[in-house]
Amino acid sequence: MAGQCVLAGCPAQAQLAVVPSGHLSVVVFADRPMKPEQWSGLFAAIQARMATDDDRSAAETRALDANAELLRGDQIRPGMTVSRAITVYLHGDCASTQPEPMGGMRRIDSIPLGWVRQIDGRIEPFLHVDCSAIGAVLANPLRRLGVARRKEVMNGAMAQVILHEWIHIATQSPGHAKSGIEKAVYSADDLLGTRTFSHPASGR
Ligand SMILES: [Zn+2]
Repeated sequence: MAGQCVLAGCPAQAQLAVVPSGHLSVVVFADRPMKPEQWSGLFAAIQARMATDDDRSAAETRALDANAELLRGDQIRPGMTVSRAITVYLHGDCASTQPEPMGGMRRIDSIPLGWVRQIDGRIEPFLHVDCSAIGAVLANPLRRLGVARRKEVMNGAMAQVILHEWIHIATQSPGHAKSGIEKAVYSADDLLGTRTFSHPASGR
């Protein structure tokens, strides 16, 4: 990786230069443009979950770098350098304006909400989140909420999935817990609460 392009899929991201050691940057790219308030809401939700003083949550997020800098991918400028980076890709409808339950062939509990890839035993620092899948799991409860609360719930759920995958990367472990953030499969209740989430650790 010696270099420059920490961000899979580049090329717009290729300008981000990497220098070894130093603090961690978590760079978030979204498939679809997000409004400034959604960026700030998402980052606040991630930080709130990392700053929790709940003993159990604190234990779960202990492996994460509390001083990590959260960066918007759409604000990465040419020549910008980061020391170490984890790249987050948000796919689908993260604004969850019209959440639809997923019907048909796929059962909801089989949809990965997020994933990382493990190659040659190493979990790569690239993390994917499927916002549409999260919206599908939350479709029914979201419909009962007002717009502001809906956004808050969606940001909280996205933050939870990001932390789940980030823990896999930080610990280099594909393992899961019976409950809490490292639970293998998240239900709607998990995503609605303060504790939650789902996915396979290797591949998709
Ligand atoms: Zn997992």
